Amino acid sequence: MDRQFPRLEISLSKLRSNASEIVKRCSARGISVTGVIKGCTGIPQAARAFLDGGCADLGSSRIEQIVRCRQAGVPGPYTLLRVPGLSELPDTVRWCDLSLQSERATLDALEAECRRQDKTHRVIVMADLGDLREGFWDKDELVDVCVHAERDLPHVTLAGIGVNLGCVGSVQPTPEKMNDLLALAARVEEAIGRKLEIISGGATSSFTLVHWGTMPAGINHLRIGENILLGKDLQLEWGIEDMNYLAMDAFTLTAEVIEVKTKPSYPQGKLCIDAFGHKPVYTDYGIQRRALLALGKADVGDEKALLPRDKDLTVWGASSDHCIVDVTHCSRDIRVGDTVSFSLAYSNLVYLSARPDVRVVCVE
Ligand SMILES: *Cc1c(COP(=O)(O)O)cnc(C)c1O
Repeated sequence: MDRQFPRLEISLSKLRSNASEIVKRCSARGISVTGVIKGCTGIPQAARAFLDGGCADLGSSRIEQIVRCRQAGVPGPYTLLRVPGLSELPDTVRWCDLSLQSERATLDALEAECRRQDKTHRVIVMADLGDLREGFWDKDELVDVCVHAERDLPHVTLAGIGVNLGCVGSVQPTPEKMNDLLALAARVEEAIGRKLEIISGGATSSFTLVHWGTMPAGINHLRIGENILLGKDLQLEWGIEDMNYLAMDAFTLTAEVIEVKTKPSYPQGKLCIDAFGHKPVYTDYGIQRRALLALGKADVGDEKALLPRDKDLTVWGASSDHCIVDVTHCSRDIRVGDTVSFSLAYSNLVYLSARPDVRVVCVE
């Protein structure tokens, strides 16, 4: 038995299955899927499982992860999801097949870089339809820039347009938003005199429309990460009950118990601030059996988002390198040297998979 903790275990068969369940439903509606690997820091075995599950290509916000996968022999193609900065253009052209774009100046510099490397590069021009992250707010400007790319930038191939929803502004993807994107695509197609290859309707949150059968025809691409990796947000946060074709336990975090004590649940003494400068509000649950785990916020971000696999075990709190769980009502007797396992939320996975001292183990 492997005794190195914290351990992040990946079930490749569950990842493959999640990918193929999603790809199957999308392709039935003419939608291809970019498998987004940034949630697990581009772990190459996971990326390969996305491709094996039928994803058409792989996407990440970070070039570093795309390089990592390419060097591990995962073939791609690769889409860069965060619009590149001017400083990133040499690597964008070198390592990525397609990128999202939202600035005319960047597209011009991209053309120059492509010329320098004697390569072509595909782009999706992003529209902002209300979520207020990347993308053109001014629709006329988006159409103009698409025409400019089409006419004046011979090394830049305008593959399509896209939108992101539900990430920063928490705007829900709806058929109306998708129809806005389709209307914009029609304007671009009219202006450039040809059909666009890709009309990209968003991320995991847009998959809801595929699931419910309300995705307007014409949206032919989605970029999906969380729903393949964890399948949690739509099932638990959105409360979609008939999505149990997705496993929520493809990733398992296991941590070691380094102390077990009976202590009060309410801090004793004059309260000021915690390790992160916050003033938490504590509830007095009386005396507790508390286990201390050798892992903390530095490993998982928000410890309260962890999903304990043990029934009746709850996460009480954490500092950067310690996590306290209440095991008072736990069905097993937890002792020093035992381990405790969790399913993960997206933020947990983002932190865990990026740490050099978290052991990653892939199983079938
Ligand atoms: C991260 C990201 C995605 C995938 O988001 P999920 O919610 O994990 O599916 C899609 N598109 C862009 C532009 C992203 O940055």
